[in-house]
Amino acid sequence: MIKISSKKTLAVCPICKKNKENSQEKYCKNHNAAKKLLKPGYLSWLKAYGSVSWDEFLKRLLDLEGLVGDFIKEIVEYEFYFQ
Ligand SMILES: [Zn+2]
Repeated sequence: MIKISSKKTLAVCPICKKNKENSQEKYCKNHNAAKKLLKPGYLSWLKAYGSVSWDEFLKRLLDLEGLVGDFIKEIVEYEFYFQ
């Protein structure tokens, strides 16, 4: 028999399903850190290209195969497809 503690809301990262250390956060430590890198990245793109929409920015990030870290890529895919 498998016991599942269903009463407790499992605080897991929606992307990697690992336990979040801080249940207040949306993602686990790694994905949270990656997400925090997105904003300054976006702002520097705005400076460089004038006007880039958030969606466009995410789309372009996904095109940069190999240049972005896996965590960032996963965050982008998650936010882009599931927002
Ligand atoms: Zn995660």
